[in-house]
Amino acid sequence: MGDDSTFFKRPCPLCGTQDSVKLNIGEPVERVGHNVLCSICGLMYHNPVMTAKAMARFYSEDYVTNYRDSEVMSQALATQRVNLLKKYIDVKTIAPALEIGAAYGAYLLTLNNEGIKAHGIEPSRKMAEWANTEKNLDVIANIYESVPERPGYFGSIHLFHVLEHVLEPHSTLERIRRELREDGVLYLAVPTINAPQLAMVYKMIHPTVFVPETLQKMLEVVGFKIILLEEKGHNIHVIARPSIPNKDLDYANPKLIFSRAENYLSKREQIVNHIHETLDDIKDAQNIAIYGAGHNTTDLDRIYCLDGLSITGIYDNDPNKQGIKLLGHSIQSPKALEKFNGDAVIISSYAFQEEISEQLSYLKKRGVKLVQLYEKN
Ligand SMILES: [Zn+2]
Repeated sequence: MGDDSTFFKRPCPLCGTQDSVKLNIGEPVERVGHNVLCSICGLMYHNPVMTAKAMARFYSEDYVTNYRDSEVMSQALATQRVNLLKKYIDVKTIAPALEIGAAYGAYLLTLNNEGIKAHGIEPSRKMAEWANTEKNLDVIANIYESVPERPGYFGSIHLFHVLEHVLEPHSTLERIRRELREDGVLYLAVPTINAPQLAMVYKMIHPTVFVPETLQKMLEVVGFKIILLEEKGHNIHVIARPSIPNKDLDYANPKLIFSRAENYLSKREQIVNHIHETLDDIKDAQNIAIYGAGHNTTDLDRIYCLDGLSITGIYDNDPNKQGIKLLGHSIQSPKALEKFNGDAVIISSYAFQEEISEQLSYLKKRGVKLVQLYEKN
């Protein structure tokens, strides 16, 4: 990945200028990319950035097995997302809907259950096939930019944690704008630097890192009117409608965005240090299980190098992951933990660590140490 032909230099994807400052992420560029902050508009992006070809290679080697499964939306989250949309939009008016990055189809299923005809596009063939055969959904296995365009066709386009992955978010949004009816709706979410946790936003697979100001500006330049733009936890949620492009608005203050980024990175450093102290404590244990086979665990391995611990098994309650190999172990159902007689279980989840601890409290009674990685206040 270090070879120069894998990367190319580019102007800022939002304002088109070349001026930028490097963001010191504190991790090697092979993991997090060459992150810069534009001195004019404050956009954080990769420069040089991986070519589309190199990116595709990176995805096929690393992403499908390690990342993608973990970003799969649960049915509960899909319902939450549809409920947020319903607060602002009469969903009876948004068909036909298109979801870009439909994964296993949890969100499409929720839309269908609301009576909304919904289509999906999903780059992972495995996931698209599963959604079509198991859930009877209409998901095309491809990348959005490669499918023939249908101008003015869709009543709504939905994309969650997709825009930060594309090389040119600006042109993806332009295409979405063209495919939407004039009375259509755009509904999206991207990660932001508001809440630092292990699954950090600065990643090789995130060529753009948005904050509310830069996302809003990009949407307005492309031609969207914002209905909702809310930063909550580590997400920005946006609901917007097509409008006249507005290129005259001022850019955000890059210095303010820079100080927020610095703040995020220093908080993240504290989290990483805490993880090191916590795992050093169980260094001598002979038999350690990991609960959670998502990107939290692969990120954890990058930060701590789990090879140094005596890991004997990995468990996850997502049946789609069971049987897949991770860190040399075949992922098992948590039911198998009932027979576990080792020393400790590492709970590798930020969002659900309390719930999982509760679920595994029977092991604690048996003298197994339940290891939570995150301090929350
Ligand atoms: Zn810029």
